[in-house]
Amino acid sequence: MPHTVLLAEPRGFCAGVVRAINVLDQVLDGSTEPVYAFHEIVHNRYVVDDFRQRGAIFVEQVSEVPAGARIVFSAHGIAPSVVQEARDRGLRIIDATCPLVTKVHLETKKAARDGFDVLLVGHEGHDEVEGTKGEAPDRTRVVDTPGDVQALAEGNRPIFVVTQTTLSVDDTAATIDAIRARYPQAEVRNDICYATTNRQAAVKVIAERADLVIVIGSQNSSNSVRLREVAAATGTPAYRVDGIEEIDPAWYEGVGIVGLTAGASVPDTLLAPIIADLRTRGVTRVEPVIVAEETVEFRMPEEIDASQG
Ligand code: SF4
Repeated sequence: MPHTVLLAEPRGFCAGVVRAINVLDQVLDGSTEPVYAFHEIVHNRYVVDDFRQRGAIFVEQVSEVPAGARIVFSAHGIAPSVVQEARDRGLRIIDATCPLVTKVHLETKKAARDGFDVLLVGHEGHDEVEGTKGEAPDRTRVVDTPGDVQALAEGNRPIFVVTQTTLSVDDTAATIDAIRARYPQAEVRNDICYATTNRQAAVKVIAERADLVIVIGSQNSSNSVRLREVAAATGTPAYRVDGIEEIDPAWYEGVGIVGLTAGASVPDTLLAPIIADLRTRGVTRVEPVIVAEETVEFRMPEEIDASQG
């Protein structure tokens, strides 16, 4: 029977997600007309469903948005071609891109302008990777694993390396090692953000003490998926769930200590029912395991004020 819960700290919302949610929240509150959001504002089913119920209309293509309407870009960033398409349709843009993703866009754009070929370490197809690649589509190649690095065709330009913000710290180190081995002169920026780094460090610590780790987060949330992988890499069984309804009580059999964490797009409210349920199963101790303190806050985008009314 489980007797103890280890709560990873930090866990859950990061500063970029808080900002994106506040942006859409304020735009919806101040609007008497439909509000469109390009892609999921953050990768969490509960957050997106809640906004949908409040009237936000999520779209995958700018062409789905009526000319002149208001559109909010998600925290994951957006390719310049999409921004241009939105402008061409006369859409009123509110950009909730996390400033740490914007930084990677600027690095990529500058590197291409300065004559580099860009290697973007990340997962092909992820919203953030598509947005970053869009800054220099002809100069950017996406690599995920050391094997991808070996398979790259030779080029004759110097190499500049950027990364997706939500990767596994350990896996990315291996890929960057492979890049440095093949391109010793490469200029490398490791852009994994503070929130990803801290959440992975915290889940590693709880996984080493726990008999089971549960990570709350959606399947399309890169950082949540990575948290489960980091926990599992310690040898402790680890599951990722969207919420309590996906937990199989059989997982608790023979388990004394349960580690609990949540991805950067996950509201902390989703933890409470899981902890309450564990208490009914015998848990008497809930212990926060603090690995880092976070004080990062981002200013709201300037368009927010202009968008009201
Ligand atoms: Fe920004 Fe990092 Fe949060 Fe992504 S995970 S929104 S990069 S702070």
